[in-house]
Amino acid sequence: SPDRLISPARAPEDVDAALRPRTLDDFVGQKAARENLRVFLHAAKARGEALDHVLFFGPPGLGKTTLAQIVAREMGVGFRATSGPVIAKSGDLAALLTNLEDGDVLFIDEIHRLSPQVEEVLYPAMEDRALDLMIGEGPSARSVRIDLPRFTLVGATTRQGLLTTPLRDRFGIPIRLQFYTVDELERVVTRAAGLLGLGIAPDGASEIARRARGTPRIAGRLLRRVRDFADVAGAGTVDARVADAALNRLEVDALGLDAMDRRYLHMIADIYAGGPVGVETLAAGLSEPRDTIEEVIEPYLIQLGLVARTARGRVLNGRGWTHLGLVPPRGGQD
Ligand code: ADP
Repeated sequence: SPDRLISPARAPEDVDAALRPRTLDDFVGQKAARENLRVFLHAAKARGEALDHVLFFGPPGLGKTTLAQIVAREMGVGFRATSGPVIAKSGDLAALLTNLEDGDVLFIDEIHRLSPQVEEVLYPAMEDRALDLMIGEGPSARSVRIDLPRFTLVGATTRQGLLTTPLRDRFGIPIRLQFYTVDELERVVTRAAGLLGLGIAPDGASEIARRARGTPRIAGRLLRRVRDFADVAGAGTVDARVADAALNRLEVDALGLDAMDRRYLHMIADIYAGGPVGVETLAAGLSEPRDTIEEVIEPYLIQLGLVARTARGRVLNGRGWTHLGLVPPRGGQD
């Protein structure tokens, strides 16, 4: 749900735009992705071509939109943004495509949510820079092909596997984004504090970084909430003590988990004796959509090793029991 403090989903309060890095050099972390992109950008520019289509995939809040904007800026071309659910009809996509200018980046967030009809329009557009339009109806209907300007499609999705194979195959440059390390997030927090004009000590930045779930968007959001507490408490600088007190008040624990995560872990522990339990069962028990469980809650818990996805369902690992301060039942899972 969007009101979770640590939800990586975009929220209106996020002053995302102000904190977004604008160049590849400003972009913290994701070393492999950055270095590959730099090569591809350089090569495309040297040849005077549009960059090949790029697919960014990884959990929300890791910088997919930011990188798409950086690609456009580094190529020196225009940037148009939309999202899968917004493009309702194939005509909507046709209108977008025909309005592009030479070399533009078209960014489609949540690209796995395009309808099959809209996807059909995208295939020739990506492959041949062409649009096949049907004119008329019935026996007199015929198809005309319209040439499109050169463009780069940048798609974003949480998991590559959510895309249909024909769509996935049309991206020349697939790039996976990873959760950030604490060191990287510390740099994100320090940089953001600077942009917000907030004094922060290294141990304050590190405390926030450790509790930001490997996610820059969450780091930025925690920083702003901590700033509120610091302002009210009259603390000039955010140090570890100030950050810790604020984050405890916000019920973000030492691993960065919030009440929702703990509810998820407790459900497996208390009701299903540690699992295995199916994701549908958990979704029903928590009154959360299955997508939210799989795309938002679980990736980080799995990354931390608290939970495992098995063929028979979710299982609480030893670390998960320990984090809840519980002892696994005898004959437990690991
Ligand atoms: P996504 O599209 O993957 O959901 P965004 O690109 O919208 O994520 O990034 C979310 C927020 O995190 C933005 O406010 C952006 O400023 C910040 N951010 C993301 N990646 C970085 C990074 N590498 N360095 C600094 N800030 C980042």
